[in-house]
Amino acid sequence: MKFATKVIHAGIEPDPSTGAIMTPIFQTSTYVQSAPGEHKGYEYARTQNPTRTVLEKNIAALENGTHGLCFGSGMAATDAIMKLFNPTDEIISCNDLYGGSYRIFTKMYARYGLKFNFTDMNDAANVAALITPNTKLIWIETPTNPMLNVVDIKAIVDIAKKHNILVCVDNTFATPYLQRPLDMGADIVCHSATKYLAGHSDVILGAIVVKDKALADQLYFIQNCSGAIPGPQDCFLTLRGIKTLHLRVDRACENAAKIAEFLLSSDKIKSVHYPGLATHKNHELAKKQMDKFGAMVSFTLKEDSMEAATKVLIGTKLFSLAESLGGVESLIGHPATMTHASIPIEERRKTGVLDSLIRLSVGIEDVDDLIEDLKIALN
Ligand SMILES: *Cc1c(COP(=O)(O)O)cnc(C)c1O
Repeated sequence: MKFATKVIHAGIEPDPSTGAIMTPIFQTSTYVQSAPGEHKGYEYARTQNPTRTVLEKNIAALENGTHGLCFGSGMAATDAIMKLFNPTDEIISCNDLYGGSYRIFTKMYARYGLKFNFTDMNDAANVAALITPNTKLIWIETPTNPMLNVVDIKAIVDIAKKHNILVCVDNTFATPYLQRPLDMGADIVCHSATKYLAGHSDVILGAIVVKDKALADQLYFIQNCSGAIPGPQDCFLTLRGIKTLHLRVDRACENAAKIAEFLLSSDKIKSVHYPGLATHKNHELAKKQMDKFGAMVSFTLKEDSMEAATKVLIGTKLFSLAESLGGVESLIGHPATMTHASIPIEERRKTGVLDSLIRLSVGIEDVDDLIEDLKIALN
């Protein structure tokens, strides 16, 4: 099945009791048994819910995995992955990553004895240099947030395989439509489905996909034990959002490419970060690893000050100033004070998150209107 068919059909059957074409919202906490232990595969809704099961099958198919698991948020999915590990285990992570991931690693799991090393993954040799006998996981986010660097998944998988280390890719920015890490040898893919998968800024939900039964069983155990599951209504909304994932991402990518070109031509702007630009340092890798270049764009102003950034951030009318990304509407954000505020200032500056760095999540509106909106705000 091709991708555009999968988003609509994979894992989805008409409801057997009514024929309803849309997966019903099974708003129930428990299921009646006909005799002790005799049931239809569903016992208690923390463990299984039919709406969630369909979503889990659907997302697993999109990532070319065999097992999907959904969670109450992207962070709950990350939390479940961390629970695979034991005190003294070491994790190598890219240094340019989602602020909430950095926070859960350093402020929460470091307290439980996991050790984290952060490095610039533009060079896979940096990863190799950090490997010790205790290294158990390499955590990749690509394209990275907010600098839009592209990490070579295959190169890192090759290093990890030699040492029997798991590789997890946070595929939130690219989505499985543009990039399929399991096909490149990664062991785990995780998502904030809150973003492109659900796609309409109305749900918080997370997902994990794997292709190894033993790893899936460990994760199901954690999911059921800790219970950070999404409700059936949110699963329904995510399933509905996914049906148009390819169409939304196509349009958003097209818009983002035009906006990146416009920003490059503006005399107010110092640098533009977008993997689709021929001038981007990872452009060739992005072309190889991704089917399109995504719809996140970031840029810095010539004047590197909070005041200059604020003028642009409050000057747009169509781009709304808000956290998050991946919805149909365009958003503008300020990583230094918003998504990346939990990263210490020295760490932040090291990766290029300056005061004048502005991040756009380009939506699917008419691109001429979006460019006009940015033009007015910049001037
Ligand atoms: C938003 C986001 C998360 C966290 O997901 P939530 O659904 O907000 O918990 C993790 N990784 C990336 C890349 C994100 O953008």
